[in-house]
Amino acid sequence: MTRTLDPATREALAERLRFYRDLGLTDFYRQPVKGETLPAATSIPQATEAEAQGMGQREPAVPVVLHEAPATAIQTSFFGEEPVIKTRRGFQAPEIGTVVPVEERAAALEAIRDEMGNCTRCALHKGRNTIVFGVGNPAARLMFVGEGPGADEDAQGLPFVGRAGQLLNNMIAAMGLKREDCYIANVVKCRPPGNRTPEPDEANTCSPFLFRQIDVVRPQVLVALGAVAATYLLGVRQPLAALRGRIHAFRGMSLIVTYHPAFLLRDPRQKKESWADLQVAMKELGLRAAGRD
Ligand code: URA
Repeated sequence: MTRTLDPATREALAERLRFYRDLGLTDFYRQPVKGETLPAATSIPQATEAEAQGMGQREPAVPVVLHEAPATAIQTSFFGEEPVIKTRRGFQAPEIGTVVPVEERAAALEAIRDEMGNCTRCALHKGRNTIVFGVGNPAARLMFVGEGPGADEDAQGLPFVGRAGQLLNNMIAAMGLKREDCYIANVVKCRPPGNRTPEPDEANTCSPFLFRQIDVVRPQVLVALGAVAATYLLGVRQPLAALRGRIHAFRGMSLIVTYHPAFLLRDPRQKKESWADLQVAMKELGLRAAGRD
């Protein structure tokens, strides 16, 4: 049965589903529809209870190829909109780049930006105003990766400059750092229409540039902001709860997963949890919280 929702209800439902997705609750939207079966799970390692809860444990690198998503089940979902993260099909992360000397990192990033040019590699270019490449210290020890530009970022060409960006700035300040000390980028560099979740082909097309940025900056700690960043960086689709609270080995650096600031704006009670994640990052960086001696 096809159901048509009025735009306000659709947006309210989409917002609610984004909220659940940020929380890492996605699986219940992936129930097979009538007559369909889910593919058998493959070798994606599941976190044990102890791993999921144990702060500071280092995880081995995880495979980047995921099993196929039950795409038809998602498309025919009651909710119509697609807030869950679809599985990328056979994406292979690029080889880790060679170390770029610190004094050459700005130019190396510039070269990646030049190579992107006036990018039309995926459909997102049609609705964008500006490419939001990334910003910050080319030799940062700490890098943040978000999902994709929103309206403010699309207007200004800079990541995290809207309300979520203000909160991210506060989070960085609480760590005793300045925004300019860090490098900030997104999984996709063009604003998805209506701030929807990037489609796998969009993320797969764009993320090799992100991986190259990461390899150039080579931060000691990479913080994935939200489920989309975590999924596309780590190549695993797990609830955020299973990815938080531990240190993932990623391209020779430590990757930490925390909530997206936009989620924290919707549910400020989770800020405490996010702060715990950032404290793990700080420990890795040998930092102490601002205001403490
Ligand atoms: N949300 C993101 O994921 N990235 C931005 O740059 C802004 C908001």
